[in-house]
Amino acid sequence: MTSLTRSSVILRRRPVGEPKIDDFEMAQDAIPTPGEGQVVTRTLWLSVDPYMRGRLSDQKSYAAPVQIGAPMEGEGIGEVIASGDPAFAVGDIVLGTRLWQSHVLCKAAGLVKLDPSAAPIQAYLGVLGMPGTTAYSGMKDIGQVKQGETVVVSAASGAVGSVAGQLAKRAGARVVGVAGGPDKCLWVQEVLHFDECIDHRGGDVAGMLADACPNGVDVYFENVGGAVQQAVFGLLNPHARMIMCGMVAEYNNTERAPGPNLMSVVRNRIRIEGLIVSDKPERFAEWRAIASPWVKDGSLHYRETVIDGLENAPDALVQLLRGRNFGKMLVRVA
Ligand code: NDP
Repeated sequence: MTSLTRSSVILRRRPVGEPKIDDFEMAQDAIPTPGEGQVVTRTLWLSVDPYMRGRLSDQKSYAAPVQIGAPMEGEGIGEVIASGDPAFAVGDIVLGTRLWQSHVLCKAAGLVKLDPSAAPIQAYLGVLGMPGTTAYSGMKDIGQVKQGETVVVSAASGAVGSVAGQLAKRAGARVVGVAGGPDKCLWVQEVLHFDECIDHRGGDVAGMLADACPNGVDVYFENVGGAVQQAVFGLLNPHARMIMCGMVAEYNNTERAPGPNLMSVVRNRIRIEGLIVSDKPERFAEWRAIASPWVKDGSLHYRETVIDGLENAPDALVQLLRGRNFGKMLVRVA
């Protein structure tokens, strides 16, 4: 790539089922010049997230779909290379570039300046960013975990799940993770210190969960849906809370999976509540202030899977939806 050319990942067509790499294509144009109140950034990191599958389809959702022929959207971190706003100087590192492009023309007003000495900058896309805030918000606003309760977290080694479970441990709960494969389960138990971790690819999930939760389940942090959800649902205690964060196991489905029978919600006075992290924007700064010292002192653990190259961002999304990531999925662009 020359310094005069901008590369973009463009959505070519809407995927049916699992996205394919050729649902996207690369395009080149000239690097734009910022107008007043704008900056141009050179992209350093892109976040790859499960919600992006929803943005590729044109079904009604809380966020508008990405348009065919337009650059793929998603959060990134960049370095300012030209500025039309006195608040930003060339060389500033900023969070909030929102396109899969090598160079992004951004409204300066939406950007957050990052201090690269405070934490590795890509942490602001993961543990200190949107996924970490999602875990914090879900636990604070819905989970409200009490000492001694049993908490189950699915996708437990992932960007959201790893933080959700560590917060539940800090609240004094018994925490059971669900993750795919022995390596992830080992890390969840040995490094994150969850009490147990069930391998959902390893056999009878319902039986293993029942064994791991002898006192039932008080809080379920739902990240995956599918068979794991069905298994946890049967174990929920009276007054249990289900934090409905996402159902990544079902995002590629072309038909909606049947849900569990809800009569036990009545019988057990269960609270099932959906969460969209952007509904409470104040939680982002709140979480950064709480979690930054924990990241610095090493007491909040996280992992990252890093894919190199803007052109490999579509593959990173495909791999994420297959569960091939181990921790926060990131693309290093420059
Ligand atoms: P993760 O880092 O957890 O990556 C996704 C993980 O999902 C995979 O690594 C895989 O882990 C698991 N997975 C994939 N397919 C399946 C399957 N068929 N069955 C079970 N597990 C599967 O992603 P995030 O932490 O970024 O996101 C986790 C969830 O949180 C998603 O549902 C996402 O949509 C949701 N979310 C919601 C937000 C909100 O505001 N509501 C904001 C951010 C995220 P494994 O190998 O362990 O199964």
